[in-house]
Amino acid sequence: MIVKPDSSSSIHLARRLRERRSVRESIRPIEELARGSQHLFTAHLELTGHLGERVTVPRFLFAGPGSAGASFLRLGIFGGLHGDEEASVLGAVALLEHLHRDPEIARGYELVVYPVCNPTGYADDTRWSRNGVDLNRQFWRDSAEPEVILLERQLVNLAFDGIVALHSDDHSAGLYGFVKGHALTRHVLEPALARAAAVLPRNFDKSIDNFHANEGIIEAGYPGVLTAPPAQYPRPLEIVFETPQLAPIARQIEAHRLALEEILLRFRATISEAQSI
Ligand SMILES: [Zn+2]
Repeated sequence: MIVKPDSSSSIHLARRLRERRSVRESIRPIEELARGSQHLFTAHLELTGHLGERVTVPRFLFAGPGSAGASFLRLGIFGGLHGDEEASVLGAVALLEHLHRDPEIARGYELVVYPVCNPTGYADDTRWSRNGVDLNRQFWRDSAEPEVILLERQLVNLAFDGIVALHSDDHSAGLYGFVKGHALTRHVLEPALARAAAVLPRNFDKSIDNFHANEGIIEAGYPGVLTAPPAQYPRPLEIVFETPQLAPIARQIEAHRLALEEILLRFRATISEAQSI
């Protein structure tokens, strides 16, 4: 089908008018905090996609205080890969707000936070990007989607020690997560689920999302999800954390924030234990 430029721009305009949420509004509190901060910095990513669309993926850096003699751990935190999972976006925002008040929580970390990985899907309140794509099935498959290209470049260039992706699942009544990569990842997710259980129940089903689950932890995953580059070695710690999407959003946001803070605490401890073995 040939689409004339004027009709495609009117479709675009109609979609813009239908937008339910504003990416800018959601990240503005963090941009404002970053303006006067020694720790928090704004560094958004931009790319023009294959359809000529301009895509901005918001990115924030948080440099925690250092520890003498210890190198920084670089952790990537990814929210909003699915645009309709608002709690994952606002959970990442809530973490940054909390770290701004208490930077000590991020001691020894260089955090790179992408709260809205699927900005068009977020604006439209859809799982998919505006190109009709589930971005979280596109990684390391030569995807032409600009969001995926931008994020893959980040994953290659920054070679994270740890990767945490936030989601919410409308089929789950409780918290759960996926672990991959580093063998000790499970020992980081377990206490994160326990901590977040202060605000939402954990999913103890034997099968979650068609995967075998053990006390809310799944050691598998869909192909094409956001992960470290296939060639990265040693493998980083990789966690996907899921909240029950039908639960009150304020509780989901709090669950994401608590889980992330516990991950920061446990990952640091796990790595230093592993290094001293
Ligand atoms: Zn999701």
